[in-house]
Amino acid sequence: MDCLFCRIIDGTIPSDVVYQDEYVIAFRDVNPQAPVHVLFVPKVHVSRFSRLKDRDVQTAIFRAVSEYTEREGLEEDGYRLVVNTGAHGQQTVDHLHVHLLAGRQLQWPPG
Ligand code: 5GP
Ligand code: ZN
Repeated sequence: MDCLFCRIIDGTIPSDVVYQDEYVIAFRDVNPQAPVHVLFVPKVHVSRFSRLKDRDVQTAIFRAVSEYTEREGLEEDGYRLVVNTGAHGQQTVDHLHVHLLAGRQLQWPPG
């Protein structure tokens, strides 16, 4: 299996890592859609949330987001979390990731 994010996790492909713990890595999106655009990625390869059965990892993803948004002072102005899933969600990398978008006024609804 050749997975882009697994290669970022193992260091084969370089990335701008902004957070890391036992279960999760977070790095800047290469094509940012907002001043802050970070991807929170479980270190284990799973394609989507429904395939992620390990509760420690489930919890770790959201704990990582909270630690990062608090550390970076994003709580006051706010932010958006997005998980594109499957074809209708327009997921392009088949390794679960949570987009964190912040740093500007975001619009709603999405397309
Ligand atoms: P998806 O479309 O699956 O929700 O999100 C995949 C994201 O990965 C996109 O926002 C895209 O810009 C980002 N991406 C694709 N290739 C790379 C890469 O090599 N490095 C980084 N840091 N981000 C990537
Ligand atoms: Zn992977």
